[in-house]
Amino acid sequence: MTDIYDVVIIGSGPAGLAAGLYAARARLKTVIIEKEKAGGQIVTTEEVANYPGSIENASGPSLIARMVEQADEFGAERVLDTITEVELEGKIKVLKGKKNEYKAKAVIMATGAKPRPIGCPGEKELTGKGVSYCATCDGAFFEDLEIFVIGGGDSAVEEALFLTKFARKVTIVHRRDELRAAKSIQEKAFKNEKVDFLWNSVVEEIKGDGIVESMVVKNTVTGELTEIVADEDDGTFGIFVFVGYLPETKLFDGLVEMEKGYIKTDADMHTSIPGVFAAGDCRVKSLRQVVTATADGAIAAVQAERYIGEVFDI
Ligand code: NAP
Repeated sequence: MTDIYDVVIIGSGPAGLAAGLYAARARLKTVIIEKEKAGGQIVTTEEVANYPGSIENASGPSLIARMVEQADEFGAERVLDTITEVELEGKIKVLKGKKNEYKAKAVIMATGAKPRPIGCPGEKELTGKGVSYCATCDGAFFEDLEIFVIGGGDSAVEEALFLTKFARKVTIVHRRDELRAAKSIQEKAFKNEKVDFLWNSVVEEIKGDGIVESMVVKNTVTGELTEIVADEDDGTFGIFVFVGYLPETKLFDGLVEMEKGYIKTDADMHTSIPGVFAAGDCRVKSLRQVVTATADGAIAAVQAERYIGEVFDI
């Protein structure tokens, strides 16, 4: 018979790693399942300035590397697998992966969220060919070129600032005439000479033959369409999209209670199914940050321990 884990955690971003650390430290037999590599969205962020305690060398990847090391040290097992099906109702939960099947007394969903696409023609075809969702990963490809950053939230403005290290000019394209980003981040952008703004504008189409060559932008006030064409000498420009995130919760669709695709929990991370918890960006909450994700993970693990103690009479 397959081993039964005390806790199976799906996802190894900050929420999953914190849950793993707390569960393993409580001597629960714990596995963290990740489909690609540890880290979640935060590994695509160059600077993590607002996680308490991280001041120097606080890049997303370095923070995650330390979280991984800590979870490993406490004995959390980590595996690469993609869960494709879950049976959550019984006392023993069953998770079917592409490689293995996992059985557990408790499950913590920490599947996070993924970047929301603009949804315009040409975006999909030109992803990785000028269109990107990760400044840390792709910024260096645009040394001395022009970059357009789409969005007006914290991510868009912070990443636009980071991209000024590479690009000769970064234009933030926002659908309104006011940014959503925190005032402190806005101030830095307004002061930066390399950052320009295209207000009241949305991208209607991205064009190019194997590489981004132009994009059509619509003015949201006048409806006017303008085609922005790459400088002749450059031949291309970058389009970095930061228009929010979509929860990665398809796996649990129709199984647990959700709201607009996010998993509903109480303050102690219980979902609508006993023994099933959710933590981090995949759940309904008001602030999606590393600090709230790790806190969720810790709470979920402690509650899972309590649940196992009660239900399995340990
Ligand atoms: P966000 O706050 O949801 O902002 C998304 C931005 O994209 C908004 O400006 C929105 O415009 C725009 N937008 C949405 N759909 C669009 C579309 N279809 N076309 C064009 N524009 C569109 O997302 P985020 O900036 O990624 O931030 C996500 C969360 O992470 C937030 O809670 C944020 O505070 C947090 N975060 C924090 C930090 C930090 O504290 N340093 C850094 C990054 C992220 P409107 O403004 O008109 O709605």
